[in-house]
Amino acid sequence: MNDSVECPICRMRCNDARHLGAKDVTEYDCPRCGNYSITHQAVLNIENSEMSKQDRAKVAAYLRERTLRGDLRIRILSQQFPDMEFDTPVATISEIIKDHFPRTVSERLDRALKNIHRLSEHLGDGIDLDLEIDGPVLFAEHKDSFDFIADTLQEAGWVKLNPVFGTHGIVLTARGLERIAELERNIVGKESKQAFVAMWFDSSLAKVWEDGFEKSCDAAGGYKALRMDLTEHNQKICDAIIAEIRKSRFVVADFTGHRGGVYFEAGYALGLGIPVIWTCREDELEKTHFDTRQYNHVVWKDEKDLFVKLKRRIEATISA
Ligand SMILES: [Zn+2]
Repeated sequence: MNDSVECPICRMRCNDARHLGAKDVTEYDCPRCGNYSITHQAVLNIENSEMSKQDRAKVAAYLRERTLRGDLRIRILSQQFPDMEFDTPVATISEIIKDHFPRTVSERLDRALKNIHRLSEHLGDGIDLDLEIDGPVLFAEHKDSFDFIADTLQEAGWVKLNPVFGTHGIVLTARGLERIAELERNIVGKESKQAFVAMWFDSSLAKVWEDGFEKSCDAAGGYKALRMDLTEHNQKICDAIIAEIRKSRFVVADFTGHRGGVYFEAGYALGLGIPVIWTCREDELEKTHFDTRQYNHVVWKDEKDLFVKLKRRIEATISA
């Protein structure tokens, strides 16, 4: 352990840093960002890019959330290496900022609330958030957003800011706990090992299904990919599909072929709070509906490419 080591993301002094020599990777244990590892090249890129304070804070928040959630230590890469397989979840800085940081204020509030819950040891437990190190707990980029999020959580009735517990003392209220229960109820298949794949049933995609979707779900955490034929669309099958979506840990929605059912199933899953991973074959991306373009699709060329990219996306977005 080197006690003068600085976190390359937030620049805070770390508790611990271990160099994984041969792989050119360092593992950090940062009070602000939690546990992660990063390649030497990624560190150089951060130094050379003059990354903004805001972006650093976004990355710190994602890393801290993973640590609080008990996820596997993620490795930050300088870029995605499509042909390499990794034994850990991997992500680039730009993926974290664009894809993994909450997109909306309400998502930020929900995820901040869950972080507070993870830090609370028992009912009524007051925690003292340290502005210096706990900005990421509230997905705050600076002091103003920290105060804004804390105040908004209180206005929603989910927490009470209580100076008894410290300068930024905060305690979950009964309504906050109800909100958490509601969020967890929505993730019906939280413990599930099923991944629902909404896609076009076409023989041209048979190999893509087998060597792309099925294989990457399995490799990313032993998820069993399930797809249901939409060609015989009738009420009964619809009910069955809905039941299977509800039972799934996440949904992969592939827009190749632009089937109406895929849009329906992705929308249904989103409504339930089930995570959706958007994918599309490269040559078909232009044709996707405008309202799904706001989501960053995993764009793939063939089954091999899909396998690597989808596996990474699952590992980086679906908590263990
Ligand atoms: Zn840090």
